[in-house]
Amino acid sequence: MPICSHCETRWTWKQTIKKTFTLSNKLECPSCGKIQYISKKSRKRISLLNLVILLPLLLNAVTSIEPLFNIALIFIFFMLSMVFMPFLTELSNEEEPLW
Ligand SMILES: [Zn+2]
Repeated sequence: MPICSHCETRWTWKQTIKKTFTLSNKLECPSCGKIQYISKKSRKRISLLNLVILLPLLLNAVTSIEPLFNIALIFIFFMLSMVFMPFLTELSNEEEPLW
């Protein structure tokens, strides 16, 4: 789980999901109210995770998988990535450019 680099409070899973869902790079710490940014390293990890969600689509392209089963797979992968995302999130005091 992410730890605020300002007050060193560990965010809860729920807080992290709520904050990351705003789709902004700026996350306000629920404890001290300081703006935190998702670190470059964890942004890369999260984008890899997003690629994993698309795996069933790839599977669909190479095999004749049932469309309904495929949608279910995407849904399951999406749920799994939601569960794991807060564990991959790290915070930084400054905004780091991705490249
Ligand atoms: Zn804080």
